[in-house]
Amino acid sequence: MNWGTPPWTIDFVPERRALPAEADCVVVGGGFSGLAAAAWLRLVDPERSVVLLEAATIGAGASGRTGGLVLAESASGDLDGAGDVISTYLETLAKLGADGNLELPGVYEIGRERGRRDSPIVWDDSGTLRVIKEVPGGTVDPGKIVSGLARAAQRLGAVLLENTRVEAVEFRAPVVVHTTDGTVRAGKVLLATNAQSAALSAVDECSRAKFTLAVLTEPLSDADLSSLGVSSGKGFYTADLPYLWGRPMPDGSVMFGSGLVDIGGDADLDALDIDQGVAAGLFASLERRVRGLHSALATVKFIRRWGGPIRFGSTWQLFFDHHPRSREMVVLNGLGGDGVSYSVYLGRWAAEVMAGRRDLPEWGKIPANS
Ligand SMILES: Cc1cc2nc3c(=O)[nH]c(=O)nc-3n(C[C@H](O)[C@H](O)[C@H](O)COP(=O)(O)OP(=O)(O)OC[C@H]3O[C@@H](n4cnc5c(N)ncnc54)[C@H](O)[C@@H]3O)c2cc1C
Repeated sequence: MNWGTPPWTIDFVPERRALPAEADCVVVGGGFSGLAAAAWLRLVDPERSVVLLEAATIGAGASGRTGGLVLAESASGDLDGAGDVISTYLETLAKLGADGNLELPGVYEIGRERGRRDSPIVWDDSGTLRVIKEVPGGTVDPGKIVSGLARAAQRLGAVLLENTRVEAVEFRAPVVVHTTDGTVRAGKVLLATNAQSAALSAVDECSRAKFTLAVLTEPLSDADLSSLGVSSGKGFYTADLPYLWGRPMPDGSVMFGSGLVDIGGDADLDALDIDQGVAAGLFASLERRVRGLHSALATVKFIRRWGGPIRFGSTWQLFFDHHPRSREMVVLNGLGGDGVSYSVYLGRWAAEVMAGRRDLPEWGKIPANS
């Protein structure tokens, strides 16, 4: 596996602990969703024991590799009962003490049609890309958010275990969770594995995994950032296709992302090498596109290339439901390229469901035949 190296640092290593034989709640997956859920569970219900199982290392999936654009809306549109996602995201991070250089200056929606005459962005990309409007949102440092959430979960008393892959589950009460490191019996289980282990979450038939790509330019001069129209620090994403998103970074480099590699299953992700095959071709085409956007980028050097796994429901829906085979298990899945704020927001909601304080929504149902 070679997924490249993102520009973020995760400076959290969990305390060494043995897998307990029993736990009130087991959370599977150490990304934003699982970490927020584990920390929030301990915050709202400190009597319950919580164990988080991560197959690789904390943040090894999309969460430690994301672009970190914070968006108010998901691709699924407005979700009933979801309320104000960004303010709940902010409140959750604040209550957990997870600081991640959050800035909320707004985000540019850009496109080839309906662009504003006074658009600060005027780029050449299958037509002229201009700012259409500004939407609420901003940017975070995802490495700091992952580390902050993990630290909060551990500080509040959750046991976090890395290199502990869940391989199978017996759908009983208590649920029997089989891992590469032994077995744990759990009163409640949250499956927050998103792109991977889809069969475990019963979403393999109704969703698809993709590997999505990002690149980082060398730092640009203030004059170049200004002529590109990104000196305000606002991130951007296209409302039309071909898709492009990105954000300026504090050191003057600019991140751009686009491109999806089809993933058939976990084995494809394990074998994926960004320097080979489809991924290598998509990186070359993304870099060509970026150099063609504006004269300030014509000869720019790229200092990083990386990617990570995401999952889309087959009609772009999120899955937030009981597991079809167990009322004691909750599945949170289908977070695509817009899951930075949603993962934490829904992780908190999942914790409240597991603590018996909130119901699951109507919109997250896993199709009955899954
Ligand atoms: C390159 C890239 C750029 C992105 N940019 C943005 C952006 O700018 N804005 C935005 O909103 N979203 C963005 N996203 C999407 C966002 O990062 C994801 O939606 C979000 O991080 C999903 O979080 P998660 O915790 O649900 O999943 P993940 O972070 O993928 O976590 C799942 C975890 O489960 C673990 N796991 C899997 N199977 C098992 C198992 N059997 N046992 C134990 N553990 C298991 C994995 O190792 C992984 O750590 C981007 C994604 C990528 C890849």
